[in-house]
Amino acid sequence: MQIHLAQSAGFCFGVRRAIKIARNLAASHQAVCMLGDLVHNETVIRELEAAGIRKIKRLGPGRNGRLLIRAHGASRRTLALARHHGYALVDATCPMVREIHRIVRSMDRQGRRVIVIGDRRHDEVLGIIGQIARRAMIIDHVEHIPWKALRRVRKAAIVVQSTQNLDRVLPIVERLKTRIADVRFFNTICKPTRMKQEEIKILPLQNDAILIIGSRTSANTKRLYEISKALNSRTHWIQSPEELDPRWFRNVHSLGITAGASTPETTTRAVIARIRALTRQGKK
Ligand code: SF4
Repeated sequence: MQIHLAQSAGFCFGVRRAIKIARNLAASHQAVCMLGDLVHNETVIRELEAAGIRKIKRLGPGRNGRLLIRAHGASRRTLALARHHGYALVDATCPMVREIHRIVRSMDRQGRRVIVIGDRRHDEVLGIIGQIARRAMIIDHVEHIPWKALRRVRKAAIVVQSTQNLDRVLPIVERLKTRIADVRFFNTICKPTRMKQEEIKILPLQNDAILIIGSRTSANTKRLYEISKALNSRTHWIQSPEELDPRWFRNVHSLGITAGASTPETTTRAVIARIRALTRQGKK
């Protein structure tokens, strides 16, 4: 069986950068915390915890510790609260997410209603809407456009969660344009996401089966799975080699593989080694 690994598989530069910041900080300071997961991958989080970084769920007294702000960014309120509790902040927010924050603040100052296309509960989206005091609108699906609430909106600015699928975003933008007189649209889907999605629109057509590697909590991995599954029903999503099922490789001559933006290369390599072992066993 041939294995074709996507060129864009694995860490994006924002995740790589956040992990580097975290490791350097853990090496030089004690009492380092992260609020929630720095990136959405269990293996990475375990490694960071082993390096001495403590994961906290809620902000309490910081006791002069350092708080890592995750790659997805955080709301202004969270940052203010952390400072209030005495934390020194170390910002690992991806520069691409920071750019979305800048756009949102600037558009809000210009009096535009901010609309975010993205997953309602995702940390990145919460961080984006938390940049401004006025309530932003979140739209997660073309069928969920709040037409009633839009009646009073004359001027709007639309931004997009960095890991969204443009094919799902554009129909929402087109519909919004029919209702709002003055709309500015910023396609803030990041370049690594676009590259990954471009590849996963081709791989499923060129291979008998597809494997997507990444955490169940990873939004960009979920998107890769959805795109691939729509093109090739033999698409499987796993987090680790242990989840591989030998039956998936029956009559499969070529297998395409990609991995989410927060999946370590070590995981991808371990998955490939396990597939090789399983398919060798199958031949005996
Ligand atoms: S997926 Fe994009 S926005 Fe998110 S961390 Fe990676 S590069 Fe940054």
